[in-house]
Amino acid sequence: MQIYHTIKGLREALSAHRREGLKIGFVPTMGNLHDGHLALVTQAQQTNDIVVCSIFVNALQFGLNEDWDKYPRTFAADCQKLRASGCDYLFNPDDTEMYPNGLDTQSRVICPTMTDMLCGASRPGHFEGVTTVVSKLFHIVQPDESIFGLKDYQQLAVIRRMVEDLCLPVKIVAAPIFREPDGLAMSSRNSFITPRERPRATVLIDTLSWLAGQISAGNSGFSELEIQARERIAEGGFTADYVTVCHSKTLELAAADDRDLTILGAMYTESARLIDNLSIRIGQP
Ligand code: AMP
Repeated sequence: MQIYHTIKGLREALSAHRREGLKIGFVPTMGNLHDGHLALVTQAQQTNDIVVCSIFVNALQFGLNEDWDKYPRTFAADCQKLRASGCDYLFNPDDTEMYPNGLDTQSRVICPTMTDMLCGASRPGHFEGVTTVVSKLFHIVQPDESIFGLKDYQQLAVIRRMVEDLCLPVKIVAAPIFREPDGLAMSSRNSFITPRERPRATVLIDTLSWLAGQISAGNSGFSELEIQARERIAEGGFTADYVTVCHSKTLELAAADDRDLTILGAMYTESARLIDNLSIRIGQP
């Protein structure tokens, strides 16, 4: 695996492959890689000749009081895992490489839909930081395909919309959520869960599954179900940020006759904010 820290270096290496007609797959990450991230690399390898992964903890998508400074950074271990997975290139720029004119005057990409609800409501500016850095990374790597995890469902929906709106020549591919054996979605932020909290942290996915069961059984009183879901999370000892039943494509609040639904949830632990989601199709087993 070749590692590049500069845009110029990576571009030169990849342009040679592009001239050869090779297909380039891209997996953007913030590092602290776990099996969920590595599964994206494996998925990218199945439909591409060359796979590029990036590791960049993007300050632009963190709020002032968020965990940018304590976000886990494990570069050496990440490199080992990527090498073992057969990743071809790693792009690991620093802040000045990505934002040479500073964050404040950086041109931004704004997606006006789907960004101020759910996670966007409690993390103002977060998705603007995501769309800005992902579009920059797309311009740097110029991939044919880019793989994103369904774990960050709203992020995936926003990126799909950005790509459509801006006619970006990249195919966005979704990858399933990788979970721990007890069902907790793998996340770099799981390391912030205390040992005391960890056995109960599955209450988020358990609650979303319970809600999905209720809806599949014909209960379309979404608002009441959401209230009960928040209570379940509170009984587990955590504070719900939101639990919302949405239309899977638009992420608007689900209507009683919508068939494709995604239930999204976020909750606060002592020192982390965890997210998860579950999609269901009504009328099918
Ligand atoms: P991150 O570095 O954690 O922000 O995520 C980088 C990419 O990995 C994003 O596309 C995430 O959706 C994806 N990802 C993170 N955790 C998981 C997981 N448990 N299962 C599948 N994809 C994931």
